[in-house]
Amino acid sequence: MIETQAQARAADAADPLRVFRDRFALPDGVIYLDGNSLGPLPRATRGRLDAALRGEWGDGLIRSWNDADWIAAPARIGGKIARLIGAAANEVVAADSTSVNLFKLLSAAVRARPGRGVILTEAGNFPTDLYIAQGVAESIPGAEVRALPREEVFDAIDSDVAVVMLTHVHYKTAARWDMAEITARAHAAGALMLWDLSHSAGAVAVDLRACDADLAVGCGYKYLNGGPGAPAFLFVAQPLQDGLSSPLSGWMGHASAFDFSDDYQPADGIQRFLCGTPPVLGLTALEVGVDIALEADMADLARKSAALWNLFAARIDVRLAGYGFELISPRDPAARGSHISLSHPEGYRIMQALIARGVIGDFRDPDVLRFGLTPLYLGHEDVWRAVEILHSVMRDEAWRKQAERAPGRVT
Ligand SMILES: *Cc1c(COP(=O)(O)O)cnc(C)c1O
Repeated sequence: MIETQAQARAADAADPLRVFRDRFALPDGVIYLDGNSLGPLPRATRGRLDAALRGEWGDGLIRSWNDADWIAAPARIGGKIARLIGAAANEVVAADSTSVNLFKLLSAAVRARPGRGVILTEAGNFPTDLYIAQGVAESIPGAEVRALPREEVFDAIDSDVAVVMLTHVHYKTAARWDMAEITARAHAAGALMLWDLSHSAGAVAVDLRACDADLAVGCGYKYLNGGPGAPAFLFVAQPLQDGLSSPLSGWMGHASAFDFSDDYQPADGIQRFLCGTPPVLGLTALEVGVDIALEADMADLARKSAALWNLFAARIDVRLAGYGFELISPRDPAARGSHISLSHPEGYRIMQALIARGVIGDFRDPDVLRFGLTPLYLGHEDVWRAVEILHSVMRDEAWRKQAERAPGRVT
């Protein structure tokens, strides 16, 4: 139990992950609690991108598709991400955005379950997940989206459901589904199961194989530190791959793209879920982040994530009682992800005051302050100091000096 700042510092000195902090170019004077929204820049990314720009693109030109193996980047990096999520190398590719990957897999799933039209999901799921599901439903006759309150989802998995689509760790509350339990229930009802791992991959232990999951997508720019707008990834369990087809039948998913034939013929295996030419520079940056995540021991990450979380919650209890905050994340480590969320009616202005003091978290409508407690590069003393600064913002009512939210700003 950490009860003083000196003890927090001592916990950092004994932390097996502390070497990772120097791998990231975090600015001085900033406590970065938003790695769940945009991961920081790995120091190695600059050199790696420079080499790709000068050597591969600049000098190699078009030869680099083969010589630098650009063409294999989606499969190679997918194979690495697979190790972070309990999948086999031939079950994951890095490609497109999470939204586009959702569209591909949801459409494939609904088409693979004729006679069933329901895409079952949680009301309040991440917006793009809901919007994409609505778009898929509009594009397939008989399909519809059923978005239910969280506590009703499990019992609603019935024989009308083609696919259950859930986000493993909820973006607002950090509440985590029991992946094995829900997947088993979907299978018992004859439905496919699609997991969005955007807030999980690189943050919490995921074992898609052990859970017998069918489909998954996830984000490259959050805990994988791939950079703004980094390519995302998708997973299709190997036994399902050749029975599903992508609605975005682009040439990179063709059985022999460079035969230039007129008719689409899907590739065997996971490659059929690729669409267009891979974004090589984005993939290059993503690979650096994924390589770092692979160096860390997942058990160490999970242990430290829980320790940082518990410290944050304990310090909130001690320092912010009576200031109107409410913890909206589950306290049970098995039932939550790696960020902690508080609600407060003045959440927006409080977060702006924190950011002005170098503590960067974010705000989600209507009243949620989110703090990402990323174990790779954050320490116990960072958490300690962040709560002290939040306390000073409340004690001095510093948030009152912040402007109200202007429309159109990214929060
Ligand atoms: C971040 C996130 C996304 C992002 O989708 P993009 O296509 O990259 O904009 C999607 N789903 C969830 C659950 C996320 O957290």
